[in-house]
Amino acid sequence: MDDRTAPAGRYPRDIGLGAVRHDWTREEVRALFDLPFPELIFRAQTIHRRHFDPNEVQISTLLSIKTGGCPEDCAYCPQSVHYDTGVKAEKLMAVDAVLAEARAAKSAGASRFCMGAAWREPKDRDLDKVCEMVAGVKAAGLETCATLGMLTGEQAQRLKAAGLDYYNHNLDTSPEYYGEIITTRTYQDRLDTLEHVRDAGIHVCCGGIVGMGEGPEDRIGMIATLAGLPVHPESVPINMLVQVEGTPLAGTKALDPLEFVRTIAVARICMPESVVRLSAGREDMTEETQALCFLAGANSIFYGPKLLTTPNPGRDRDMALLDKLGMRPMD
Ligand code: SF4
Repeated sequence: MDDRTAPAGRYPRDIGLGAVRHDWTREEVRALFDLPFPELIFRAQTIHRRHFDPNEVQISTLLSIKTGGCPEDCAYCPQSVHYDTGVKAEKLMAVDAVLAEARAAKSAGASRFCMGAAWREPKDRDLDKVCEMVAGVKAAGLETCATLGMLTGEQAQRLKAAGLDYYNHNLDTSPEYYGEIITTRTYQDRLDTLEHVRDAGIHVCCGGIVGMGEGPEDRIGMIATLAGLPVHPESVPINMLVQVEGTPLAGTKALDPLEFVRTIAVARICMPESVVRLSAGREDMTEETQALCFLAGANSIFYGPKLLTTPNPGRDRDMALLDKLGMRPMD
């Protein structure tokens, strides 16, 4: 930022100026959250423009290839066997059916196809099928992404060899709040899988969820942890909790949408080269909140009427919103 665009001296000038850094302190991240809203959005938008076309949005489609029956106890998740949410456990989809969905997503404008399975970790025989799916989706001309739970180094290598471009594995929240949300695995388990994925040469998609009853310090801790990874995730999904009846988080006090926008802006500033994805929770967001998120540096969305098991705006509504904002899908 040069002198003409540097903000007036009332706010710390040496934070959030756009350099790619991995040594963000919590104090610095907190100072960003504490900026006046216009100042924060200005910084986020300035940085966004240095690295991306501000009028473009990357569009991904997410398909649940294996729904429900998950042994993990993530307190937000309707697919956990621990909660009675009405989601039925299904088997892994057939490869042909997944490939048909991928072709349909491509015709609808998606550039990346994500496959999600409700597993703690994949069994090797299931991974054979997933590798076939990955190879088929890639051959159909889409970027490939999967989220299958924890991976060993060897499993990550197999997925890479099959053509996997991205692996999604979220840190969900701060290390301190993690135990309130999940007890069946540790934060370190998550970090270990992220390392296996990175070592295999697969791009990392990793973010979190806000509105889970966490405090401001947890949102700060989550962003500081993500921005402190040895390499920033190429893709950073920021989700607003979708409350599902039957999960422990149903009835949690809703987060102020402006706090959500702030989280997006701070993520954009701390990880300037990452694609920040406005993920779950858009169904309940106004167009104005979504527009503010784009202004704050979000540049990716999930397309399609369902995100795994929860509702998402339909394609027509999204297209109408992008049209209204004069934005367009990224190639
Ligand atoms: S979020 Fe994933 S790991 Fe956690 S319960 Fe749901 S499907 Fe299982």
